[in-house]
Amino acid sequence: MTSSNVSAVGERVGEFYDQLVGMFDASLYGPNIHVGYWNSQEDTTNLEEAADRLTDMMVERLRIGAGSRVLDIGCGFGGPAIRLARTTGAEVVGVSVSRKQVEKANELAEAAGVSGKVTFQYGDAMDLPFDDASFDAVWMLESVMQMPDRTAALAEAARVLRPGGRLALTDNYEREAISEERRPVIENILQRYLTQPPASFETYPAMLREAGLRCTELLDVSESTTKQSVRRLGEAMAQNMEQLASKVDPEVFKKLKPAEGENMEMPELGYLIATARRPETA
Ligand code: SAH
Repeated sequence: MTSSNVSAVGERVGEFYDQLVGMFDASLYGPNIHVGYWNSQEDTTNLEEAADRLTDMMVERLRIGAGSRVLDIGCGFGGPAIRLARTTGAEVVGVSVSRKQVEKANELAEAAGVSGKVTFQYGDAMDLPFDDASFDAVWMLESVMQMPDRTAALAEAARVLRPGGRLALTDNYEREAISEERRPVIENILQRYLTQPPASFETYPAMLREAGLRCTELLDVSESTTKQSVRRLGEAMAQNMEQLASKVDPEVFKKLKPAEGENMEMPELGYLIATARRPETA
């Protein structure tokens, strides 16, 4: 195995998640760190099940099965990778810049009885510790928005993907123009979560192409995901505040919690699903 050089941004993101590892015990999303998917406003599915539903939608898009080898870039606590392995029989390797997440994810794989098929390791998406064309599929679930350069991160994902293999991801994009007045408010929230500025929906296919991939599908799922997640998470967090606060350092918790009178909803930000293929020939 080759080793990974971790970028300065990666170091900071890793430190952030290391400090938040205690949140796992109070997680409202289960072993996931991504939004849920709801079929309608009336859909009362809980946060964890809705998060699993989004994972399942992404699994379908990879079109893999037993015998496939999948890379999970930005694996979090490993919930999605374990679910993918269980439902498809594929082998999965996950990477994260948080050592504590990697440790937790390996424990969860062990507890789920899939540690022979699912492994997690420390590594940076910008310099993946894997050989060219060594995976049948790659996914990036709600992780690319924390990477310092989207196109470079996608090009690195394309490098390790075999020709003909698929990539599926979720990302934030600017759905409504951000006004000059709102920009500092939004930037402040994104910076607290170490998230880069949102992508552009219109130019997403061109960005994938520049990275050596061909976009096969681009979906705006904002109404079914973030819009509902932020509201439901806000309600659930308000009820769980004390428990959450006891799990992480108060200084870190302050960053996550809405400030007095702050509205964390950002209607300007949309949520997209993109699927792409690495062409058979360059
Ligand atoms: N995909 C997981 C976690 C999403 S949270 C899930 O859906 O549950 C974002 C994840 O991306 C975290 O695990 C974080 O450590 C990882 N990440 C962010 N920047 C990264 C980078 N440069 N290299 C590797 N992982 C990164």
